[in-house]
Amino acid sequence: MAGTVGGILVGILLALVLGAIYSYLDLYNTISIYLTLLATMGAGAGLGLGVGKFLHWAKVRNVAVLYGVGAICALVLLIWSWEVWIYAFLHQAKLQVSMGDLLGSPRFLWRVIGAINEKGAWSIGGHVGDKGTPVSGVALWAVWIGEAAMLVGVPLAVIKWAAMPAPFCETCQKWCEKRALAKLNAGDGGAFRREMENKQFGAIAKAGPAAGSAMRFWDIYLEGCAGCDSTQTFSMDEVTLTLDKKGNLQRKTKKVIRRLNLSPEETVAVATQVAGLSNPEGKAGGDSEQSRTMSDNKAAE
Ligand SMILES: [Zn+2]
Repeated sequence: MAGTVGGILVGILLALVLGAIYSYLDLYNTISIYLTLLATMGAGAGLGLGVGKFLHWAKVRNVAVLYGVGAICALVLLIWSWEVWIYAFLHQAKLQVSMGDLLGSPRFLWRVIGAINEKGAWSIGGHVGDKGTPVSGVALWAVWIGEAAMLVGVPLAVIKWAAMPAPFCETCQKWCEKRALAKLNAGDGGAFRREMENKQFGAIAKAGPAAGSAMRFWDIYLEGCAGCDSTQTFSMDEVTLTLDKKGNLQRKTKKVIRRLNLSPEETVAVATQVAGLSNPEGKAGGDSEQSRTMSDNKAAE
């Protein structure tokens, strides 16, 4: 509960700061519409990441709460950026209106917005309409709706990613860690996923280890608790490496298996399979303690 309240407070504070910066940038930037677009995304992403990181630190892991806090903060960002923008816009036009007038009366704010919409606030030189003609009416409403969608949508799109980068161990009350297992030959990802979901872990040996030079492979890893065996999950990403025109290596990752829950026994079975990859003749299926140690060493490399 304290984490949730803290998240809302931190988020509102962040929204006030980001909203103010964003509004002034929006108003005074007449150079590039792309800069405005970037600022809109930046304000939204900054808010989502900031609140998300705080909620992660506060160990808030209820997804509904995450989105609830995110929505409240995003609405504050949206409304506040309007307040600041209108305030700055009127002052630029030498109209003396206090922030109190705008904050105190939503109806007054709404009328000002309507009046600005009728006249048009700015022009998109040469892009839309005649050069220098202010964008107004329906076109301006459309831009504003798009802007609002971004200011609210972007924080919500990134908050879970920032707050829950890994599963949470309820036993130890801490976030889980990622442990690399192996790189496998890429084959039929759908079939591999079905086999793993049915706990047919022999699929790992069947795929076999990928060659060091492979440009397409399966990256398998565990995300689990470092402190106990009660929370372990298995994931597989299909990785494709390509060389771009400049000769730089580009890495494309497709998540095929996403956090498949494993019991302690299943975790050992997976680790045994992975150990068998580097030692195909001998110990696979043998001493599980040794297999785990081997997979731990592999992860530490
Ligand atoms: Zn634990």
